[in-house]
Amino acid sequence: MTPGLLKDSYGRAIRDLRVSLTDRCNFRCFYCLPHGEPPIAPKEQMLSYEEIEYVSDIFVSLGIEKIRLTGGEPMMRRDIETIIRKLAALKPALHDLALTTNGYFLPGRAAALKAAGLDRITVSLDSLRPETFRQMTGVDVLARVLEGIEAARDAGLSPIKINAVIVRGHNDAEVADFARFAREHDLSMRFIEFMPLDSGHEWSRADVFSGREIRAAIEEHFPLAPLPVRRGAETSARYRFADGAPGEIGIIAPVTEPFCGACSRIRLTADGQIRTCLFSTVEHSLRDVIRRGATRAETVEYIESVVLKKEPRHYINDPDFLQPARTMSFIGG
Ligand code: SAM
Ligand code: SF4
Repeated sequence: MTPGLLKDSYGRAIRDLRVSLTDRCNFRCFYCLPHGEPPIAPKEQMLSYEEIEYVSDIFVSLGIEKIRLTGGEPMMRRDIETIIRKLAALKPALHDLALTTNGYFLPGRAAALKAAGLDRITVSLDSLRPETFRQMTGVDVLARVLEGIEAARDAGLSPIKINAVIVRGHNDAEVADFARFAREHDLSMRFIEFMPLDSGHEWSRADVFSGREIRAAIEEHFPLAPLPVRRGAETSARYRFADGAPGEIGIIAPVTEPFCGACSRIRLTADGQIRTCLFSTVEHSLRDVIRRGATRAETVEYIESVVLKKEPRHYINDPDFLQPARTMSFIGG
């Protein structure tokens, strides 16, 4: 293996690490955590910020260029600014430090994230209608999340990405409204297909509003033009508005148009388990390795051996597909 480069057994270079900072969340999105948080694991099982810093440094030395902090709701972690500051110190080898959040805590705190060294932010926003927002997230806080998006912009965290999971019968009628919202506010709008990662295990193929349907719903109002970027390992197919309006559209269709062949991602759960795929049914305890006193060289060797076990693809579309036991809130979306 080329020193300093993580490669799986299918030749895919691993460049992108998603780090879940907590399993806890103050929202109850029905496609993620509908019945609330499962019993919270004891604090001592969670990685400390020092441990996150240590393993991230190793990952970056192995060619990881992008780290995205996620959860659960990562802003529920009180030491998030410290974590960002420590990880920002890994630049320039680390090219990109991003955060995905439900936006609730952004008013009043966005500036501190930017000051700590955060490059980019993604805010989840499933509806522009207060009642649908409440129904999908379990909390009646649309106005506050919109305020959070403005706070992120004021703090200089542009360009801001917005994630919306589109679920048939819930918010599919709002796809064009979201596109208009992106144009009016110069946002990068990401539409995501509903995946079988909900704690309620209520996902059904019939609920998936497909990437193709999303694109058609937008183009009824706003013709799109593909962006001249190489898709590579990106999850989304990216478009601009054909009329030159500001804003961008991304369509993420893991269910109907899987992109596993170019996957460059690996995940670390809040309790220190490496997951080589969102849909993995096994985990690998990096926490146990570092806590039993492994040397840095041994830790590197362990990470390399785990990456070699990365699955070739997900099996959502196979008849005997089994939903992983852990949900998106554990795995880190
Ligand atoms: N709490 C933060 C948030 O909601 O942005 C970060 C964690 S959340 C698990 C990360 C992303 O995963 C969110 O954009 C969320 O909408 C998405 N997500 C959660 N469950 C999903 C599912 N079953 N299918 C598709 N996307 C999902
Ligand atoms: Fe919480 Fe994010 Fe899951 Fe919604 S999607 S329940 S905000 S972790």
